[in-house]
Amino acid sequence: MEKSLREFCLKERVPALWNASLSDYTSFHIGGAADAFLLPETEAAFVKLLAFLNASGRAFRVIGNGTNLLFSDRGVRGVIVSTRHMRGVTVRGRCARASAGLPLNVLCCALAEASLGGMECLYGIPGTVGGALVMNAGAYGAAISDTLSYVSLYDREERAVISLPKKELSFSYRKSLLQRERRYTVLSAEFSLESKNSEAIRGEMKRVLSRRMETQPTTLPSAGSAFLRPERGYAAEWIEQAGLLGARVGGAAVSVKHAGFIVNLGGATAEDVRTLIAQIQNEVERRFGVLLVPEIEYIDEEITV
Ligand SMILES: Cc1cc2nc3c(=O)[nH]c(=O)nc-3n(C[C@H](O)[C@H](O)[C@H](O)COP(=O)(O)OP(=O)(O)OC[C@H]3O[C@@H](n4cnc5c(N)ncnc54)[C@H](O)[C@@H]3O)c2cc1C
Repeated sequence: MEKSLREFCLKERVPALWNASLSDYTSFHIGGAADAFLLPETEAAFVKLLAFLNASGRAFRVIGNGTNLLFSDRGVRGVIVSTRHMRGVTVRGRCARASAGLPLNVLCCALAEASLGGMECLYGIPGTVGGALVMNAGAYGAAISDTLSYVSLYDREERAVISLPKKELSFSYRKSLLQRERRYTVLSAEFSLESKNSEAIRGEMKRVLSRRMETQPTTLPSAGSAFLRPERGYAAEWIEQAGLLGARVGGAAVSVKHAGFIVNLGGATAEDVRTLIAQIQNEVERRFGVLLVPEIEYIDEEITV
């Protein structure tokens, strides 16, 4: 398989790294090496690669910018495909079509340039369009699904490219069908926006970004909010009330700026983060009867096909 994968990547010009450190490709800067780390540059090459991997039966996982992920310290025995080099965007009328790997920030800037509003609140989320759709990423009352029209997907079961409209993707708070059904890989998405003055859009983006910088530990490596919003209150409030601000395991700590974030103070391992997550969950549940569910996704050494 390894030989045929190398040959495929050479033939289809898919940049490939062998035994690549995942800490270099995640915002947490944590994780061992992946056997193969592939970076397709066009949607056509991406689809060919997905079809090839699918047919080979080899375990693989598609990621975007790795900003919601915690990889195992032992890395991954299998193939990681990152969309981060697929950054196409076209705007026609009030519609924008974006490739899976386009950073949300770049999409927001392109929309501001085209006088199209509706995504300003997402400015500053460090993920790609594909990762954001899987997570139904959002902030300040808005989510990426709000303006979505449809998604173009590679379906591993049908072995074909299909399109699904928003209403078939079961979006809710930080959830989507794409998260539950790993058969789908996001190739691109189309959004329907509203006409708005460019300066007003840029002003809103600037406000949203300042709010992030003021309240979040943006200068330390993290994977964003560590926990989903619980049924009662906010994760950060419970963690703070439990006296866990600054709590530390190895190089991982609860941010003193925002208790909902776990930050890498330097040299943190995935096990440090997982131990800290478990300690927070136990303490908050013991004291307040509230179960905190991680938002950060842990990816173990053995990934499934
Ligand atoms: C400082 C900071 C602030 C953050 N603030 C926010 C916030 O305000 N709101 C918020 O919602 N999130 C926030 N996040 C978390 C994160 O940025 C989002 O969840 C983002 O949408 C993840 O995008 P990504 O490209 O990094 O995806 P990744 O982390 O690479 O992947 C996330 C999931 O999507 C899957 N995936 C990625 N691309 C594809 C694809 N093309 N097809 C199929 N599956 C795919 C992966 O397998 C994985 O399961 C923050 C993170 C950081 C570090």
